Amino acid sequence: MSNRADKLRILIAEPSAFSEAAVRELSSFADVTLRETAQDGMRDVLESYDVVWVRLARRVRREDVPERPRAKWVVVAATGTDHLDRMALEEAGVRILSLRGERAFLETISATAELALGLLLALARRIPWAFDGVRRGAWDRDAFRGLELRGLRAGIIGFGRLGRMMARYLDAMGMEVSAYDPHAPVTAPARAAESLDALLAESDVVSLHVPLDGTTHGLIGRARFARMKRGALLVNTSRGAVIDEGALLDALRDGVLGGAALDVLADESAVSSSHALVAHAATHDNLLLTPHIGGAAHGVMQRAEEHMVRVLRRTVGGENP
Ligand code: NAD
Repeated sequence: MSNRADKLRILIAEPSAFSEAAVRELSSFADVTLRETAQDGMRDVLESYDVVWVRLARRVRREDVPERPRAKWVVVAATGTDHLDRMALEEAGVRILSLRGERAFLETISATAELALGLLLALARRIPWAFDGVRRGAWDRDAFRGLELRGLRAGIIGFGRLGRMMARYLDAMGMEVSAYDPHAPVTAPARAAESLDALLAESDVVSLHVPLDGTTHGLIGRARFARMKRGALLVNTSRGAVIDEGALLDALRDGVLGGAALDVLADESAVSSSHALVAHAATHDNLLLTPHIGGAAHGVMQRAEEHMVRVLRRTVGGENP
């Protein structure tokens, strides 16, 4: 990387409001191009840049990976990488660099856990629908009696960074917090649930904080909804496909669930007013949807981008000393 000819070529494929400090830092050791890239342009950019930097809107599917890409790294300043076909990329010699494993940095980022708490409070107190009424000029206190959370039981699925943060928030509100995680120890203030089914059966409120992978795809399906406490609230800020969305709709229609709040959908590229969950939310006041805004707090994405520049630099330096 000593002269221009050896410089890494980096393409930032989703450049809107990308951290200027990150671009400056990248430009000190690479040629950086910021260009909004359509999904069907992903193959081309993997063919012609050393590093392709995406957020969550651009996917890399098997068909996007050329046989002999120039790219050596796909960078994403996020922890969820399920929109990138890791196997197809690895077979072509491309590595994914993400925030996964950047523990110390991640402990400073709480936006998604804060959103999960906000969604739960919104559901419990029916805030969006109460506000809808006021917007229409109504002032109807009795129509919006909500749930007081203090003393209720919360079940957290996935006791990693965000699950642990959520446990602390809910404990501070006086809830009885249990958690289920087959791979990580459950520590105070949460108590370890005996099993996922036991957690579902005993919880008034369930919040999901697992990664999407082969073992969590469809984790909360029809049989699991059937085990939940009648009227329980469900919050999902992890990934949409962790829930069977058809089963969720039935659980909402049948009153098995008191309400659900989702920041993520199984297929976020196909959202429109005719999407079954969006259509349900438009006409019922038991489903709250937000467009994957968990990590989208001012400054957070930029700080994450600046951190990923350090990760990239470390990686490139280590692999091309
Ligand atoms: P993390 O890796 O720190 O924690 C995930 C935990 O889930 C781990 O402890 C793991 O052992 C556990 N787990 C794995 N499989 C499980 C299973 N079958 N049952 C129960 N637990 C299981 O990850 P994190 O930083 O807490 O983030 C969790 C997920 O949240 C991410 O993978 C990402 O998909 C999602 N996320 C969403 C947003 C957003 O904008 N909505 C932002 C950040 C992260």
